[in-house]
Amino acid sequence: MDFTQFNLDTRLYTAVRRAGYYEPTPIQTTAIPFGTAGRDLIGTAQTGTGKTAAFVLPILQRLLNSPGKGTRALIITPTRELAEQIHQTIGQLSYGTSIRSATVYGGVGPAPQIEALNRGVEIIVACPGRLLDHIRNRIANLSNIEVLVLDEADRMLDMGFLPDIKRILRHVPGKRQTMLFSATFPAEVHQLAAQITQHPERVSIGAVRPAHTVEHTLYPVPHHLKNRLLLKLLEQTDTKSILIFTRTKHRAMNLLKKIKRTSYKATSLHGDRTQGQRRAALKGFKEGRYQIMVATDIAARGLDIDGISHVINFDMPDTADAYIHRIGRTGRAQHTGEAFTFMTPADQPLVKKIEKIMNQKLPRKTIPDFDYTIPKPEYQPNKRKPRNREAARRR
Ligand code: AMP
Repeated sequence: MDFTQFNLDTRLYTAVRRAGYYEPTPIQTTAIPFGTAGRDLIGTAQTGTGKTAAFVLPILQRLLNSPGKGTRALIITPTRELAEQIHQTIGQLSYGTSIRSATVYGGVGPAPQIEALNRGVEIIVACPGRLLDHIRNRIANLSNIEVLVLDEADRMLDMGFLPDIKRILRHVPGKRQTMLFSATFPAEVHQLAAQITQHPERVSIGAVRPAHTVEHTLYPVPHHLKNRLLLKLLEQTDTKSILIFTRTKHRAMNLLKKIKRTSYKATSLHGDRTQGQRRAALKGFKEGRYQIMVATDIAARGLDIDGISHVINFDMPDTADAYIHRIGRTGRAQHTGEAFTFMTPADQPLVKKIEKIMNQKLPRKTIPDFDYTIPKPEYQPNKRKPRNREAARRR
């Protein structure tokens, strides 16, 4: 099976080939026919399954083959990085056409976005907050929207975007095609999906399980030995491109400092970095100038980076869903990847949940020449001083 089965405009077919896609992924095979038929869609698919093209191709097909004016498609997404990635995919897949898209998100100056919107675009890819600003300032006009996509709906709700999404919906015509994608389906996502779609087709790929191209390994370790274990693991693993997750930005910063003392080139992606720094980190990591990127969940949400060989959960994520999202960063499309997870005794209950969702027991590994018995250093506030004084006396 190849892309010709979808009867797409020949320009799209050429662009798809040019992008290096030869065979549609399962979500594309199922979703594209519904999408091009104008049906509403609720898709369970995580990043890495090819879901972006699954909604972008039907949008492009409609724009090329039916008349319309103004901005005709709106894609709402939780993060700036994801918005940029979708925008890039649109650029790739609309190659050879005159379709224009623009990204809209906060944290950067509004002028270039305003300029692009004033010039006119057929597709807007937006994060909710800034889009609302542009709507209020009458820069963005959504009255001609024919297709609405909500991408990573679960993440958007997690991030508290529901009120903003509802406000945006008031400006979008009721008569439209709606596609909603989410990796997981908690009750709030169901509710939102029911409110905004009409007779939707349900497309579920891989349910909430991570891509099968990923091998999972748990490394039991006491909390205080995590740094040492990581350095040992890096030494022993043939690693190409590694994404390491920590629980907080402070832990990301501390870990980056430690890694930088080794020969690895590393960078980080977290909430304390400016948009420019994030972009530079991501670019450097994608281009291979940094072998390691240390990131927090929010910062790395939905990132599409090809060829990540390893995801290391230095800290366990908060939920089983977050684990699946993190692991979605490796083993993408045709690649295979490995996921290493450091597991402290406190992480046991969550590991059980993850194993339940994945319907398999994850292998535990220990590193043979690693000393797991090194005791936790005790906190001895006054010990150093007298010793120093003693040493000083001796000198
Ligand atoms: P996504 O799940 O949309 O983030 O896509 C994950 C990655 O798979 C991206 O790097 C896409 O460029 C790539 N991709 C999407 N569809 C295909 C396909 N049919 N063949 C090969 N690669 C694809």
